[in-house]
Parts: sequence; structure tokens; C-alpha cells
Amino acid sequence: MFSPKCPHCGRTATIEMLGSGYSSYPSQEPMLHCWTCGKRVYGKAVDALMIEQKRAYDLGAKDREAEALARSKAEEASRDLDRRVRMAVESRRREKVLKEESERQARLKNQIEFIEAASRLKGPTPRPKGVTCAWKECGARSRTNSKYCSRDCSNKNARWRHRQRKKQAA
Ligand SMILES: [Zn+2]
Ligand SMILES: [Zn+2]
Repeated sequence: MFSPKCPHCGRTATIEMLGSGYSSYPSQEPMLHCWTCGKRVYGKAVDALMIEQKRAYDLGAKDREAEALARSKAEEASRDLDRRVRMAVESRRREKVLKEESERQARLKNQIEFIEAASRLKGPTPRPKGVTCAWKECGARSRTNSKYCSRDCSNKNARWRHRQRKKQAA
């Protein structure tokens, strides 16, 4: 808000109209009166002062506007930079997570390959109990109602166990 200023001390001053009633001034003339330092300015000098002060105020207002615009642009640029920095940080974090995940997958794959290779070295997995003939030297499939594939293997196993018992007794 524009207000008249004292040309002497710079504080806000008031403008009064003189020349009414019994004043010693013949016509209506403005008077600037500073209540701080007591400075008084009369007549056309007040007009000139006001024109000058108003021009300075308007220029100041333009400067203030330009300054505010520049400030808001700078703030916007700063926010934009913040956003870009955050995005870069986020994207680097995401890359790191993806990299770690792919490394984890690679390690898992290696482990599986290692286990598979190890189990190949151990040979074929043994057939479940009860499927193969119980006579240790026979690899044939056992019959459904027997531990052995045949009467022959059953006898062989019985004779072997008999020999083992005799050995233990001796
Ligand atoms: Zn003053
Ligand atoms: Zn057999």
C-alpha cells in the first residue's frame, strides 16, 4: 500500500488540505506533515513529492513482483531438482534390488546344478525297499506276495543266513 513519506526522516506522513475557513492560506493547498520529525511541505512541492514517491513505489512494486516471480521460479527449480534426485536415488535402489535378486537366482541355479551333478555321481537312486528281490545278489523285481523274485532266491538267502549264524556261533 502506497502512503506519503516524509522527505526528511522517511517515516509515514499525512497530507492535509489547507486554506479552508480562517486559514492564512488563500486557496486550498495540500500540506504534508510529518508527525515524527515535524517536517512540513506545502503546495506544489507536495504534488511533486507525491508524483516522485508514487513512481518510486510503482517501480518498487514491479521489482518486488519480479523478485517474487524469480523466487517462485527458483523454488520450483529446487523442487524439480529434489524430485529428480529422489527419482535417481529410487531408480538406483531399484537397480540394486534387481541386481541382488538376479545374483540370488544365479546362486540358487548353481546350487541346484551342483546338487544335480552330485546326485549323478552317486549313480541312480536306489529302488524303494520291497520292490527289488531281497536276495542281496539279485537285482530282479520281487513278486507282489514275496520279498523275493523266486523260490530260488528265497532259498539262497535262507542258506546264506544259515551260514552267517554258524559263523557267529563258531
Ligand atoms: Zn519526518
Ligand atoms: Zn531273486
